[in-house]
Amino acid sequence: MDLEYGEEYEAFRKTVKAFLEAWPLQGDEARLPIEEQEALFRKRGIEAGFVYRNVPKKYGGSEQPHDAIKDQIIQQEFHRVGAPRDLATQAAGMLVPTLLEFGTEAQKERYIPPALEGTEIWCQGYSEPGSGSDLASLQCSGRLEGDEWVLNGQKIWTSGAQRAHMMFGLFRTEPDAPKHAGISYLLVPMDRSGIEVRPLRELSGGFEFNEVFFDDVRIPAGNIVGERGQGWAVSRATLVHERNLIANPFLMREAFDDLVALARERKRGGRPAIEDPWIRQRLVEIEGYVRASETSNMLQFTAAHRGEFEKAMRPMMMNKVFSTDTMQRIMKCAYDLLGGDGLLAPLEEELDTWARTTTPTGWVLQYLFSMGPAIAGGTTHIQLNIIGERSYGLPRDLRKSG
Ligand SMILES: Cc1cc2nc3c(=O)[nH]c(=O)nc-3n(C[C@H](O)[C@H](O)[C@H](O)COP(=O)(O)OP(=O)(O)OC[C@H]3O[C@@H](n4cnc5c(N)ncnc54)[C@H](O)[C@@H]3O)c2cc1C
Repeated sequence: MDLEYGEEYEAFRKTVKAFLEAWPLQGDEARLPIEEQEALFRKRGIEAGFVYRNVPKKYGGSEQPHDAIKDQIIQQEFHRVGAPRDLATQAAGMLVPTLLEFGTEAQKERYIPPALEGTEIWCQGYSEPGSGSDLASLQCSGRLEGDEWVLNGQKIWTSGAQRAHMMFGLFRTEPDAPKHAGISYLLVPMDRSGIEVRPLRELSGGFEFNEVFFDDVRIPAGNIVGERGQGWAVSRATLVHERNLIANPFLMREAFDDLVALARERKRGGRPAIEDPWIRQRLVEIEGYVRASETSNMLQFTAAHRGEFEKAMRPMMMNKVFSTDTMQRIMKCAYDLLGGDGLLAPLEEELDTWARTTTPTGWVLQYLFSMGPAIAGGTTHIQLNIIGERSYGLPRDLRKSG
């Protein structure tokens, strides 16, 4: 595999680096609240053609020709300087690509610009108490009455619902159709009467998850993406983007570097832990996984660069499984290195941050958090089933009929 990008791309890298010299912001701008600083960064990134490159200008994107190598260089450089990580929110990273593929012109014009600007926050309403892996069995209903959908039922594990303005969700609108064909993808304003959001406390002590209840909630009939009963196909598009968001090789490398620093800093038997053969062995093993994940990511990106999207799918699905597994190995090793400090509870002010893992309580938080991504967006077991069935033609998993 040729890992050199060539002259043209290295010149492009220089332009990205030059742009990033203005981050973090300086002077008066550095005193703005962090959300405003990030909004400024995003706006300038769009103007410079580095942010939201696949989105047409008329919807607020920077509309650049598809180039996977440039995308990769931008990701690398943005990551290197710690540029805002909220560029790929559920709205920008999942809803927007879905609307670009399935939305009407009016929906694209109405919803994409505020989603990119971050002024309209979205949450994802898929999972229900009885429907997670077997999502197609979902029961939350949408009944068309005149020019309105009437929604009833319950969603669960809805990340960020407590601050969301809108939800993209799946509702059973065709109760008599076979289960996959009875679902529609609806856009729900969260301020409608009949919606109740109840927070759920997480392992870490934070409140990011919610239950969302719908009691005769009325939304306009036009708030449907795709056709009635086509929601399953539309939601699959969103999930592909979600799995891609979860598998981030740069975060993994960064966490591994932090783990090595921690092993140098912590003591075992009066000496730096990194000198302990058992710890060294674990670090080497984990680095093997990190490098394997990076290579797999390169395979995905090479296939995408060549326009071979089908070929990119297999490493993409594997990347979600292996990157979440590797992150867990990194965090478990760090947790073991912490010894008694591992019993400290994460601090209140750390719960909402994506800061690098440098404090003991920050490591505890990341250790607890590392369990979630292997479940979110489809569990590891489900991913392995999909890889086995679709990529290797293995016999299908046993399924309930319907
Ligand atoms: C961090 C995080 C964020 C999330 N955010 C959201 C969100 O914003 N919106 C949303 O809608 N949902 C969200 N979820 C929910 C997530 O999509 C579900 O948790 C996930 O799909 C699994 O569903 P479940 O929890 O009902 O588990 P279940 O489906 O009940 O699975 C339980 C166990 O059984 C295994 N299992 C199930 N079926 C099979 C099978 N056929 N073969 C082998 N093993 C199987 C699973 O792998 C798992 O280990 C989030 C979850 C997490 C952890």
